[in-house]
Amino acid sequence: MKMNALVKLKPEKGLVLMQVDKPTPGPGEVLIKVHKSAICGSDVHIYDWNDWAASHVKPPMVIGHEYVGEIAELGEGVTDYQIGERVSGEGHITCGKCRNCRSGNIQWCKDTNSVGVDRNGAFAEYVCIPASNVIRIPTNLPEDVVAMFDAVGNATHTALMFNLIGEDVIITGAGPIGIIAAGICKYAGARNVIITDVNDYRLDLAKRMGATATVNIARESLEEAMKAGGIVEGFDVGLEMSGNGGAFNQMTGAMRNGGKISLLGLGNAPITVNMNNIIGKGLTLQGIYGRKMDNWHQMAYMVQGGLDLSPVITHRFHYTEFEKGFEAMHSGMSGKVILNWED
Ligand code: NAD
Ligand code: ZN
Repeated sequence: MKMNALVKLKPEKGLVLMQVDKPTPGPGEVLIKVHKSAICGSDVHIYDWNDWAASHVKPPMVIGHEYVGEIAELGEGVTDYQIGERVSGEGHITCGKCRNCRSGNIQWCKDTNSVGVDRNGAFAEYVCIPASNVIRIPTNLPEDVVAMFDAVGNATHTALMFNLIGEDVIITGAGPIGIIAAGICKYAGARNVIITDVNDYRLDLAKRMGATATVNIARESLEEAMKAGGIVEGFDVGLEMSGNGGAFNQMTGAMRNGGKISLLGLGNAPITVNMNNIIGKGLTLQGIYGRKMDNWHQMAYMVQGGLDLSPVITHRFHYTEFEKGFEAMHSGMSGKVILNWED
């Protein structure tokens, strides 16, 4: 049996929509019929074939790791799921044996295998993953939103690392994940959620998502936004979501003594850091990688509880129009882009 899939066929720019073998679930695996998928920044890197992609992906490879679908087939020994159940999947397949896996900290596994990077992914009519990575999805959640839950999980992991209730939060970088994080911080009880970027289109999306103020650092003052929000000693919590060294140093400069920072953004190159801010202020820094399994519950329940993530979805295309989706991502004038894999 064949299926349609978006394939990185050769080590060069672009993706090819082509027929490939429909995967067969092995022992302990399930086959998922994909309904919708979302384009991640890393999919754009793979499309562009930048240095990161060239060192991580071995073509030919079906890419994509953000999706929602239904169980289509069960491999040998899988008894926990039923055909037709609505599911998504944790995209990091962890070893299950290392010290962190055995402590339940799978986000720190020393041997992670990524769906759509190291093994065939979800920009396809079907994707095959281990049953232990399947996430059951309540049927009252909108599929467009669940399609991007992998990214929402990054935002949830970063945002909920430190207490937010009554706190003043700065987010640097209003990419899709920063925009989603703004919504989560407000939902979780933060007082001020101030987000910075250089892109007005994205800052506007963050405002619609719940940011209390936006700062275009190319022409606006962070200090004035802090003053307007009644912030006297600095931010309590910082979420770095740009990968930009300048943004990180601006953040550490604006934190209060004893403030806490979660770091998600990954830049292309090493950055120079102002250690005086970090040491003199006694800041706590926490690196964030992927998601904790518990984040899947938290995001589903936040959406059920009324967190509206739909403002970040700006484009929807049928998978046959995937080039338009990548164009929207490249333009910078986009939040999340959803691809529909059904007719
Ligand atoms: P993105 O690249 O779409 O967004 C980054 C945003 O930062 C852009 O809108 C950009 O204009 C803005 N920016 C650039 N310089 C800035 C500055 N000086 N001040 C403020 N903003 C600035 O990225 P995304 O998809 O939203 O992801 C956010 C970050 O998280 C990226 O760096 C990505 O690589 C990283 N990421 C990490 C993990 C992880 O597991 N650690 C997972 C997913 C994404
Ligand atoms: Zn492990």
